Amino acid sequence: MSTYVSRFCDGDKDQKDLLGGKGANLAEMTNLDLPVPPGFTITTQACRAYMRDGHVPPELRVEVTLAVREIEDALGRRLGDFHEPLLVSVRSGAKFSMPGMMETVLNIGLNDASVKGLTEFSGDERFAWDSYRRLIQMFGKTVLGIDGDLFAEALDERKTAVGARSDVDLTAQDLRILVHTFKEIVVEQTGREFPQHPREQLDMAIEAVLDSWNTDRARLYRRRERIPHDLGTAVNVVSMVFGNLGETSGTGVCFTRDPATGESGVYGDYLPNAQGEDVVAGIRNTLPLSELELLDPVSYDALRQAMRRLETHYRDLCDIEFTIENGKLWLLQTRVGKRTAAAAFRIATALVDESLLTMDEAITRCSGDRLSQLLFPRFDPAAAKQLLTRAMPASPGAAVGEIVLDNAQALERTAAGARVVLVRRETNPDDLQGMIVADGVLTARGGKTSHAAVVARGMGTCAVVGAEELDVDVARGEVRVRGQVLRAGDTIAIDGATGEVFRGEVPVVDSPVMVYVADGLDAGLAAATDDEARALVTSVDRVLRHADAVRRMQVRTNADTAEDARRARDRGAQGVGLCRTEHQFLGERRTYVERLVLADDDASRQAALDALLPLQREDFVALLDAMDGLPTTIRLIDPPLHEFLPDRTELAVRVATAKEPDPQDVALLAAVERMHEQNPMLGLRGVRLGLVLPGLFAVQVRAVAEATVQLRAAGRDPRPEIMVPLVGSVRELQLVREEAERVLAEVGAESGTTLELPIGCMIELPRAALTAHRIAEEADFFSFGTNDLTQTTWGFSRDDVERAFFADYLQNGVLTISPFDTLDADGVGALVRAGAAGGRATKPGLHLGVCGEHGGDPESIHFFDQVGLDYVSCSPFRVPIARLEAGRAAV
Ligand code: ADP
Ligand code: MG
Ligand code: MG
Repeated sequence: MSTYVSRFCDGDKDQKDLLGGKGANLAEMTNLDLPVPPGFTITTQACRAYMRDGHVPPELRVEVTLAVREIEDALGRRLGDFHEPLLVSVRSGAKFSMPGMMETVLNIGLNDASVKGLTEFSGDERFAWDSYRRLIQMFGKTVLGIDGDLFAEALDERKTAVGARSDVDLTAQDLRILVHTFKEIVVEQTGREFPQHPREQLDMAIEAVLDSWNTDRARLYRRRERIPHDLGTAVNVVSMVFGNLGETSGTGVCFTRDPATGESGVYGDYLPNAQGEDVVAGIRNTLPLSELELLDPVSYDALRQAMRRLETHYRDLCDIEFTIENGKLWLLQTRVGKRTAAAAFRIATALVDESLLTMDEAITRCSGDRLSQLLFPRFDPAAAKQLLTRAMPASPGAAVGEIVLDNAQALERTAAGARVVLVRRETNPDDLQGMIVADGVLTARGGKTSHAAVVARGMGTCAVVGAEELDVDVARGEVRVRGQVLRAGDTIAIDGATGEVFRGEVPVVDSPVMVYVADGLDAGLAAATDDEARALVTSVDRVLRHADAVRRMQVRTNADTAEDARRARDRGAQGVGLCRTEHQFLGERRTYVERLVLADDDASRQAALDALLPLQREDFVALLDAMDGLPTTIRLIDPPLHEFLPDRTELAVRVATAKEPDPQDVALLAAVERMHEQNPMLGLRGVRLGLVLPGLFAVQVRAVAEATVQLRAAGRDPRPEIMVPLVGSVRELQLVREEAERVLAEVGAESGTTLELPIGCMIELPRAALTAHRIAEEADFFSFGTNDLTQTTWGFSRDDVERAFFADYLQNGVLTISPFDTLDADGVGALVRAGAAGGRATKPGLHLGVCGEHGGDPESIHFFDQVGLDYVSCSPFRVPIARLEAGRAAV
């Protein structure tokens, strides 16, 4: 029984934790009887042991020997043998795909002797030497850590010396000389010979792949993609097949459907007489896969069959790496393919139409993040544009920004607030930093499967690739295209949906999906300018309608004004979960707050409050009217009052510099100084303010009550709920409740109606969550305020910590994401759980919601569903996203 090694015939696709994605899928394909070269996987367990102990486990060497011998016996060839040598590749492959982030070494087993064996076996001397120089080059760079440019330069020198235009023009003799040069480079750079022993090569390559898990760029990628650092990578050892055996051989990448649109068909790139890396590196320009049908119809048919088989088996879009060796097809990798947001929706519904998926499954394939990408604006089709060139649309979106040519420029300009488009000849994993901060990526080389395309699609960054007319000259800081010269800093616009590249600023408009979400299906279809866009709008509509049908949680919105509420309602909001009343005290109304603060007796204070009443009532009438028939949670004033007063320093300066200071200013300054707090967020605010300043909450409750009466009289159906912020003790809520009920009774009596409005509170302090069973005695509902709850649970000041130290905390792994973006399920979530359980222990049917930013965050929404909340409330823009995620959480 092996601990660290698993043969392809023993694994399956569900063992990604242990075998990594690549290994698990190689095993799955092997067991489907698809043509996979024999091999085995060194499990992630070995990588974890290696990271822990600093050396590979000794058993691993033995297990590798046994597994290699099995391959040798099956193929009747020996690793690095003099005759018919077996060669292998050593390939990284973690649980989550990290395209190009880790290492792979091909042609392990070649040395001065076996290169002759390979010549004999293949009958092709040129091929054998080409494979050998590739090994030294790759091994030198990735295993021995030699600067790859040294090899690339030697290769270029050789080409110039013999007048070769491309690698393929080099003869066997040229390559033999190159191998000699490469070996000299190895000696110069490392002080030792290129290792000749095949097994030593294999062991060194395995270790290098294990090491590549922890390179800076791999760590950066994982942080961004939120992949834990302790998973480790698996290592796949695969017997080599050769795509570089001449014109009847080649290598390629394909998708079972268009990864940009989801359209079914033949999509991919093919490169005759080439080895693996050549395609993805974008070094040589590839042929579209359809041309393989003409070059080699038999292999093409075999590939089509394999594609169909895999898509049926995985019931999803698959991407596939394949190699043709002398007319024989081999599959080297498959996975459920990365795709654009549009393709995610279209593929999901297409598979439902083909009866390969249920609608429940289909909605799990379309995430809220993906939906939010479809809501991005696009270029105005009607605007005048200056087309520079047209290339391959690789990742959708519309990006306008300054040209930057490398990471340093990208970081510098974005830090200065600029929007940038990263323009490169081709990208490689070292460009990741620049790609992260850029709004768009444009490359001169490479196809839809190139590094730039794959990574940009994964990040949801707009990308256009393979713009061959572009001449990117980093040294001179310019880009030349069709006789025009653009400099770093000039503005360009790239359209990731069409592949167009424009000079200068281009205006953007709403996407058809945005129009659909805001104005309904007919409007969305009308805004779509072609069949593809119409198909997309229809798919999104089907997915959202199904999510609505299956979700348990309701989706409300955070809206302070009637206009926001109406916008959210159009997008499917089922109520307002949070109306912040503080906006009612801003602008010209600040003077009323000043009067309130300066009042030195009950009468003048009441006068100030009375002046506010009609203004607030009007606001509530508008809001409740917009939300007619739907619950509308109105939060009593929350922030500290001095936020509505003039700035202390400004006021002090005004008083100090005036010849004769305004007495009002002097009084105000005294009040501001009296009210100054060191930690206002933990000070006099929320319910505390309501209890300390008599009449403040009462006037708000009265405004809500009178608005309700007024609307009812007009035949409307207003449904306000009154919410008290920052409660920590049941007694606080009890006091506010008594006052509110008194006001409701008064207004009821004045108008001859009964007003029994629900009164509840926010749960946003740890003490509230911990004593929720008591607080529930006085509450008709709870709403979790997860922003403040996160601040007070962690003791993080939200306004300061992100700038102060979050970068460090993300770097050193204390945090994997800001707890203000995604709910910290372990800590803050435990309080939400306790609060929900406590509340319902007292009142089993207690209505529970959440109104922090987390209400619109996909991962957090799944957590709230688990905890049993009745609704989430989020910003109007995120309502459709929350509807979808609540649906996904329910299936
Ligand atoms: P990545 O994860 O970066 O795609 P891979 O491990 O898939 O790296 O390998 C890089 C390239 O080498 C791929 O194109 C792959 O198909 C090719 N390759 C890997 N192993 C073999 C092999 N045994 N025979 C032929 N080509 C191979
Ligand atoms: Mg690969
Ligand atoms: Mg709060």
